[in-house]
Amino acid sequence: MYKTHTCGELRTAHVGQLVTLAGWVHRRRDHGGVTFIDLRDRFGIVQVVTNPETSPEAHSTMIDVRIEWVMQVEGLVRKRPVGMENPNMATGEIEVEVQKMRVLNQAKTPPFMINKEEEVDEATRLHYRYLDLRRDRMRNNLVMRHRAVKFVRDYLDLRGFIEVETPILFKTTPEGARDYLVPSRVHPGEFYALPQSPQQLKQMLMVAGVERYFQIARCFRDEDQRGDRQPEFTQLDLEMSFVYREDVMALAEDLFTKLVAEVTPQKRLLTSPFPRLTYQEAMERFGKDNPDLRFGMELKDITDLAVGSGFQVFEATIASGGQVRGLNAKGLGHYSRKQIDELTEYVKTFGAKGLAYLAITPEGEQRSSFAKFLPADTSQKLLARLEAQPGDLLLFVADKPTVVFESLGRLRVFLAESLGMADSDVLAFCWVIDFPLVNWNEEEQRWDPSHHLFTSPMPEDIPLLDTDPGKARGQQYDLVLNNYEVGGGSIRIHDRALQEKVFKLIGLDPAVARERFGHMLEAFEYGTPPHGGIAPGIDRICMILAGEPNIREVIAFPKNQAARDVMANAPSPAEAKQLKELHIKLDL
Ligand code: ASP
Repeated sequence: MYKTHTCGELRTAHVGQLVTLAGWVHRRRDHGGVTFIDLRDRFGIVQVVTNPETSPEAHSTMIDVRIEWVMQVEGLVRKRPVGMENPNMATGEIEVEVQKMRVLNQAKTPPFMINKEEEVDEATRLHYRYLDLRRDRMRNNLVMRHRAVKFVRDYLDLRGFIEVETPILFKTTPEGARDYLVPSRVHPGEFYALPQSPQQLKQMLMVAGVERYFQIARCFRDEDQRGDRQPEFTQLDLEMSFVYREDVMALAEDLFTKLVAEVTPQKRLLTSPFPRLTYQEAMERFGKDNPDLRFGMELKDITDLAVGSGFQVFEATIASGGQVRGLNAKGLGHYSRKQIDELTEYVKTFGAKGLAYLAITPEGEQRSSFAKFLPADTSQKLLARLEAQPGDLLLFVADKPTVVFESLGRLRVFLAESLGMADSDVLAFCWVIDFPLVNWNEEEQRWDPSHHLFTSPMPEDIPLLDTDPGKARGQQYDLVLNNYEVGGGSIRIHDRALQEKVFKLIGLDPAVARERFGHMLEAFEYGTPPHGGIAPGIDRICMILAGEPNIREVIAFPKNQAARDVMANAPSPAEAKQLKELHIKLDL
């Protein structure tokens, strides 16, 4: 080894020892003829010092070194002089007096500072990711992620799970996104699909009798990028046989409760056991199926009060089958017309045509876009339903339910974030259950699975598949943390006839179903146990635990928002020879 100790481990107990260290020059200072450097490696920082009289050679090397040079240092650990200790450094009581110093490699001046946190434009950070990862924040994120994944592996191992790797070159596995395809050289015109998840394969492992499987699995989904999405991301994929919904939920809940205690003990779980909401309840109270429970401002239905209110906008919407819901933005009664207009513009991006308001000053005076139309007793009921008090701002959207939920659900989060109500040290986990099995796709005039094709209906709802499929609930459960869905899972179909029925329901042509999923249908005829699982997103959970604003901060080498790796420049054009081998002609 180039080193006997790490830069982070030296303490007063090492005083008097001769040590060899190796690392990067974090900082360099000259003080009246004496030169100090802070030497950094992954484990910490230690001060090294040269003395021109005792080690002139090392001292002259020290004078030349620049930040981020790679050095090897041999020297004696000594106590720092009284008054020179640094209580902010783990190694702050000692320093290393250099006897020999060797430059292992030089470095150009980095494009941004490694030794302090400063705002650096993300494109530069991603281009020089290897330098970005040297910074404290990123190193801490990498270490935290490693701890989290290691905890998960140990936890599951102790409970009889085995980790099984499943192929990356596979066949389409729909999870609602586009596939990444890989052309086959040896089978002209044929393609592998990168798995959107190991869903089919983990079910096959249940048929294979594995009973308890997990994998820290890479998933590939070609979809529009957002802060919480990447073209490839990592799931804790798990599957269990002979379980009911409660068993999978109990395991995941215990796993995450213990994970938080182990990895981020400074964070507080808002509620334990995790609250459960039905999909219907989540939508009605929060407008989203991934509700943030860290703050109130719940949505309230006022459709019944708005009927016959005399306010044309409300009345017309209700007459055409729409509804009116509102929320109480507590304490914002002083908002100006301009501020309310800004909120109106915000909800318009989610399809709302407007935002009706009723603002109450602290003195109890009302300003409103519609209240003058309301009879006094309706107005009283409305204030009571929204628990309005002087100083509050009530905001309403009238539209079809999807628009009302989307716009008010987003507005609620937007307000909470801008008012600082979303404490990042609080972890509000909850479960959302009883999703509809299928949702009507207006555009394509067919049913879409709300989770995926393999989710089992609730046993008592199976007859509804023939009569009223929209009312059938799936045995699906989503794990939600703060404002994010961090995992989804379900009890699966394990019966060929039922699986074929669901394929048919969602309009999958039987020939196509056999071509795509024939292996599953066949496997279901060879003694498939009842089974179910879940797949929490490692990146999203780590992002929330690290208090980071997007998942790129907890991924070593993420793609940018345009799905590009800007460090290595991928994707990039293929050579003509490669394309020919792959039997591909470009049509650009
Ligand atoms: N495969 C699903 C997904 O990736 C999760 C699951 O059902 O286990 O969303």
